[in-house]
Parts: sequence; C-alpha cells; structure tokens
Amino acid sequence: MYDVVIVGGGPAGLTAAIYAVRANKKVLVLEATACGGQIVNTSKIENYPAAPGITGLDFGQTLQKQAEDLGVEIEFESVEKIIDNDMSKLVITEDDQYKARSVIIACGTEPRRLGLENEDKYTGSGISYCATCDGSFYRNKVVAVNGGGNSALHEALYLSEIAEKVFLIHRRNEFRGSADLVEKIKKKDNVELILNANIVGLNGDKKLKSITISHDNKTEELALDGLFVSIGRIPKAKGLIDGLKLTEGDYVKADESCTTNIPGVFVAGDVRSKEIRQLVTATSDGAIAAEAALRYIDA
Ligand code: NAP
Repeated sequence: MYDVVIVGGGPAGLTAAIYAVRANKKVLVLEATACGGQIVNTSKIENYPAAPGITGLDFGQTLQKQAEDLGVEIEFESVEKIIDNDMSKLVITEDDQYKARSVIIACGTEPRRLGLENEDKYTGSGISYCATCDGSFYRNKVVAVNGGGNSALHEALYLSEIAEKVFLIHRRNEFRGSADLVEKIKKKDNVELILNANIVGLNGDKKLKSITISHDNKTEELALDGLFVSIGRIPKAKGLIDGLKLTEGDYVKADESCTTNIPGVFVAGDVRSKEIRQLVTATSDGAIAAEAALRYIDA
C-alpha cells in the first residue's frame, strides 16, 4: 500500500511527490506519457523565480531527477479509474492497480481542438498543438497560429524565429494574453495578425494545404504549410473517480487547500479550479496538496 499515489508527473505532481517522500512516505507517481507536463513545450521560462531562461525540458527533467533521487517511484501508465474505498483508494491503470491511503490528482489538461472536419486527418500532417515540439518541421515555411492567449502568443513568437511567415489568427480584436507579449509580436516583421477571424475549414489532400477563415462577414482561403492550434486546454479529470465535484468547465473543485470533496483525495496544478494557471502556482499546489495528504494520512 502506498501512502500517496499521484496521478500526473508534471510540475504539480512531482512537487507533491517531493514533499511527501521527504516526509518519509511511500510515494508513487503515475504518468501517462513523459514527466514534466505542459511546461516541457515551453522553449524558455522567464517567470519562474531564480531560474531565468531555463528551458521547459530542462525544468521537467531536473524535477523528475530530483524526485527520483529522493526515492519517489514513477511508473509510466495511464490511470483509467480511481475507486474510493473510504480508508483506501484503488488506482487502476491500463496495466495494473495500486492501493493508496491517499491520492493527489495532478493530471493537468489537454489541448482544446478546433472541432472541424479533417482535424484528425491533418493532425501530424500540417496541424500541430505544440510549436516547440513540431516547429522545426516548418523552417522557412508559412504557418498560422490560432488563439489569443499567452500560449498562442508564445507559439507565434517562437515560430517567428523559424518560419518565413506566421499568421496569428484570433477570434476577437483583443488578446487575452499579456500586453508585453503582444508588443513583442507587433514588432515582428514576419508576423501578421488576422483578428476577428475564425477558422472554418481545413483543406488539402494528404497534407494540410490551406485553411478557410471567416472574418468581416466573408470567407477566404489562406495557403499555408502548418497550423498551430493554441486555443486553450481542457481538464482531464472527468470520469476519473465517481462523486468528485467538478466545476462547469470540468476542473476539480477545490480551494487553496487543494482538498476535494472526497476524503483522502487532493488536487494540484492546472486541473484544479483556480484563477491563475502558471508554473509557480502548479508547484505551489503540489506542496499544499502533499501537506494536506500528509495531515489526512497521519490523522
Ligand atoms: P487561454 O488563456 O484560455 O486562451 C485561449 C485562447 O483561445 C483565447 O484567446 C480564446 O479566445 C481562444 N479560444 C478558445 N476557444 C476557441 C475556439 N473554439 N476557437 C478559437 N479561439 C478559441 O489558454 P492558453 O493560452 O492555453 O493559456 C492557459 C493558461 O496558461 C493561461 O492562464 C495562461 O495565462 C497560462 N500561460 C501562461 C504563460 C506565461 O508565460 N505566463 C504561457 C502560457 C500559458 P477568447 O480570448 O476570445 O476567449
């Protein structure tokens, strides 16, 4: 039996693991793909205290090593269900099952999709959800980024250094992302803003060749080599455990104590209902959730 099983090996989950293992608890992190979470897609982190300019990949790898060196066990398995048996929880993955005295849900979010016909067909063949992962395939090519948040602005800036031309397409005429990023974007000669515009069609043969956009009451076709979709993210906790209270947008309901409505189940990071989703708030959640889990276990 583990003291704490943590669902998700991103900054929130791994920080929770570090806090719990340092309190001499038996800790398992279950990660579906690779440790580090969403931050590994960030080329340069500029707003994490005392680590200016670190790459997301370095941050994720260093955090994973720190956790493992302290004795955290990590298994790369996708959690399918958590059964609440009051004093213990059964965490079921596609391969195995683990008994735990407490669980911390830190499974993060996944990219929101456009929901357009052919989106699946062109994913990986012209459509990407991660510029730092796939940007290098578009050296000196024409790409578009869709979205108006900080992620889209970061992606557009990153791609402007690689691609010949970047269209930044946003559905409103104001950006949700921060003003300093918008200023940086506006100074880029090879970035063109297309505002008040929605993507309504994805066209091509085996690969994406153009998109249809609707703006100013007309539609137009825009030829391009790649489209980076960056229109927000969707929390992944829905259906994980019966009775867990979620918000309307499917974030796990919990206040700053990271304590859910189910005794022994805690939540940390982007999947928690909160105002600010940043690396620093994810790691902060991890520490708080771990401390709450320790209090629960030792009560
Ligand atoms: P976000 O802030 O929620 O922005 C999503 C953007 O996509 C919004 O501009 C939204 O438009 C647009 N959008 C949503 N659904 C759409 C649809 N169906 N079609 C077209 N456009 C759509 O998401 P995010 O940029 O992924 O950022 C997530 C969180 O991480 C935010 O809190 C962000 O600040 C944070 N973050 C911070 C940094 C940093 O360096 N500080 C970097 C990356 C992310 P509307 O504006 O019209 O709603």
